[in-house]
Amino acid sequence: MRTVITGGAGFVGSHLCERFLAEGHEVVCVDNLLTGLERNIAHLRNRPDFSFVLHNISEPLTIDGPVDAVLHFASPASPADYLAHPIPTLKVGALGTHNALGLAKAKNARFLLASTSEIYGDPEVHPQREDYWGHVNPIGPRGCYDEAKRFAEAITMAYHRYHGVSTRIVRIFNTYGPRMRLNDGRVLPAFMGQVLRGEPLTVFGEGQQTRSFCYVDDLVDGIYRLLLSDEHLPVNIGNPVEITVLELAREIIALVPGTRSTIDYRPLPQDDPKRRRPDITRARELLGWEPKIDRADGLRRTLEFFRSVI
Ligand code: UDP
Repeated sequence: MRTVITGGAGFVGSHLCERFLAEGHEVVCVDNLLTGLERNIAHLRNRPDFSFVLHNISEPLTIDGPVDAVLHFASPASPADYLAHPIPTLKVGALGTHNALGLAKAKNARFLLASTSEIYGDPEVHPQREDYWGHVNPIGPRGCYDEAKRFAEAITMAYHRYHGVSTRIVRIFNTYGPRMRLNDGRVLPAFMGQVLRGEPLTVFGEGQQTRSFCYVDDLVDGIYRLLLSDEHLPVNIGNPVEITVLELAREIIALVPGTRSTIDYRPLPQDDPKRRRPDITRARELLGWEPKIDRADGLRRTLEFFRSVI
């Protein structure tokens, strides 16, 4: 098996590269390093079964030789990153998905799209099931990401229905673990960086908004199972254990005994989803998947990583 992973130098992408290599695949990692890091794949660079192509997938890409699977994970994915790069975000969700689908079609390869819980917007249905159409503000600050991913799902289904490409769509909920960027603006790296520096934790709003955090190894396992399945309709992959942002801040403070860190309340950003929790019934039934790593364990492992890079 030879697998192309766009965004392979990113947080999730680099863990996917490792997993696919461990499963015996040859991996071609494609990344333009806009938000990905060379450091994430440095330990793979000398392997004969791994290659790296520095390329922006929003431009067409030719790969020599056979390809069995294309995993499209390239995109800025944290709110701070897509706010800083709104046009590349729209382009990679639209043109990048088109190019990645074209590659899969030309090679007769399976295609897997990294979609997101953001396609549900600020949801009015809780928990979120795959048959919920969402509540998205197209012109708000998150619109560039949400609408790009909604387009990406639409063109993926069109390639499946019109061209017969064997496609998969994973809707990824909040994920965390080693190789997140300390400064990507997401809540977990922000809080961990702050607690390790003894600074106050910046809780937005009153911290009563919720998220459900999945450890990256669990996510990668769900993605691997989905690729091997025959399921073409979207599947949520995430951890269904929901927590408020304020509770998360307190848990992270408790991980560092004796820290001087307190809590500093800041304004809530526009269109920040109030509640988010995946319904993972489809993943359980179709893939036999559910998360295995609980938050206490995952947070400890992730804090060790941030300690090593801070
Ligand atoms: N958040 C926070 N403090 C921070 C960063 C984020 O309270 O320093 C909140 C943010 O308002 C949101 C939640 O944490 O409600 C998760 O934000 P993140 O950027 O990680 O991702 P999102 O789930 O919103 O895409």
